[in-house]
Amino acid sequence: MKQKEILLNSLLKENQISLSGTHADEIGNGHMSTGFDTPLREDAFVLSNEEKIKKIEQHFTEIMQTLGLDLNDDSLKGTPKRVAKMYVNEIFSGLDPANKPDMALFENKYQYDQMLVEKDITFYSNCEHHFVPIFGKAHIAYISKGKVIGLSKLNRIVQYFAKRPQVQERLTVQIAKEFQKILGTEDVAIIMDARHLCVSSRGVQDQNSATVTSFYGGKFSEENTKKEFLKYIEMKTEY
Ligand SMILES: [Zn+2]
Repeated sequence: MKQKEILLNSLLKENQISLSGTHADEIGNGHMSTGFDTPLREDAFVLSNEEKIKKIEQHFTEIMQTLGLDLNDDSLKGTPKRVAKMYVNEIFSGLDPANKPDMALFENKYQYDQMLVEKDITFYSNCEHHFVPIFGKAHIAYISKGKVIGLSKLNRIVQYFAKRPQVQERLTVQIAKEFQKILGTEDVAIIMDARHLCVSSRGVQDQNSATVTSFYGGKFSEENTKKEFLKYIEMKTEY
């Protein structure tokens, strides 16, 4: 059974986001994010990646030791460094604008004026409240205003913003806004459907709930266009 709760606040409405089924406890605790930019410190990029890895390695060593783990054990010895490298170079690499994928645009030579839908884009992110995985599928659509983008770029932009500590609401809007900017059109829609390990593996331990967030910009806020998009997403892929 999927958890379905409608949670809207005025901020979300302004930005044309609807949410159905999300962490009720987070909203209750005032955990909800208030802005759509990732909150970064002024000095976020003062340290080099190497320096960050060194520092995180030291801190993670302390966390493990505090938990009572013996880092002389062969299996545990390399963990602080592995975690530090994974944070900086992989799962949080999207914090660094230097890692933003290049977006080459093409002329819409085919005069294709219908919506383009890229569905079932798998993504992995991490919840910024617990630092445990969020994973799921993203479905993206846009209607070209003269420019088109390589399909793999849709994927890459999703991965870029996913590789940050995130809340799903912000992730959805960051991706949508980025595509609107790149493509020079408001006509962008996104649905993200994800599981949060902070809900399934701890806390309320609900194994079955999924969180759905959506963004409908421009023409996608019209009922027919929205319906068409939803129909394509539901369409079974039989190949
Ligand atoms: Zn969480």
